[in-house]
Amino acid sequence: MKDSYRHKGLRGKLIKVLQEKGIQDEKVLAAMSKIPRHLFLDNAFEEWAYKDVAFPIGSEQTISQPYTVAFQSQLLKIKKGMKILEIGTGSGYQACVLAELKGKVYSIERQQSLFIKTSKLLPEIGYNSIRTLFGDGYLGAPKFAPFDRIIITASCPEIPEALKEQLAIGGKLVAPLGSQEKQTMVRLTRLSENDFHLEPFGKFAFVPFLKGVVKVD
Ligand code: SAH
Repeated sequence: MKDSYRHKGLRGKLIKVLQEKGIQDEKVLAAMSKIPRHLFLDNAFEEWAYKDVAFPIGSEQTISQPYTVAFQSQLLKIKKGMKILEIGTGSGYQACVLAELKGKVYSIERQQSLFIKTSKLLPEIGYNSIRTLFGDGYLGAPKFAPFDRIIITASCPEIPEALKEQLAIGGKLVAPLGSQEKQTMVRLTRLSENDFHLEPFGKFAFVPFLKGVVKVD
C-alpha cells in the first residue's frame, strides 16, 4: 500500500476539518498534511484513515484521533532540534508528527508486540530518525534525558516524578491528566529545578497509562 494523489486529497480534507475545529498552528498542519496516515492502519481500514476519529490498532490500543494529535503537538511548541520523549508509541503516527516538526524523537511503548510492529514500520515509510524504545514509560528514558519536551499519549492519574525529573529546565510536558473516562489536557512547564507551572486545556479521552511491560511469548 502506497501513498497516492487520492490519499493526498483525503489528507487535505482532514486538514480542513482540523482547522475548522480550531487547530491553527501552521507547522502542525503542514506536518500532518505530509504523513500518510493510512499506512498506520491495517489495509482493510484504509477508508478510516482520514476521518477525524481514533481507531483500534490491535493489542487493545488505538491510534489517537487526528484532532487530539494536532492539539497535543500544538501545545508542545516544538522548535527544530529539540529532544522529545513520547510515552506510548502505539501506531507511531504521533512520533512521525513530532519528527516532521524537526524534533529528535524518542518514543517508548510498553507492549512488545506493538513495539516490534511499529519499530519495523517507521523506517519502511521513511522515518529513520525516530528512536523507539521498549519499556515502561512511567520510568521515562533516563539514559537520554534531559528532554526539552515530553508527551504522554495515555491517560495518567498523575504525572510520574521520573518524567518531571527528566524534563529540562524551561522544558514542557503535555499529558491527559485524570483517571476518569475523560481527562484534562495539561501542559507542565519546568521553571527551575523545583518549580513547575501547570496549565489546563480541554477534555479528552485516552487509553490508560499502565505500569510495567507486556512481553511477547
Ligand atoms: N501515540 C500513539 C497513541 C497510542 S495509544 C499513536 O500515535 O498511535 C497509547 C499507547 O500508550 C498504547 O500503545 C499503550 O500500550 C501505551 N502505553 C500505556 N501505558 C504505557 C507505559 N507505561 N509505557 C509505555 N507505553 C504505554
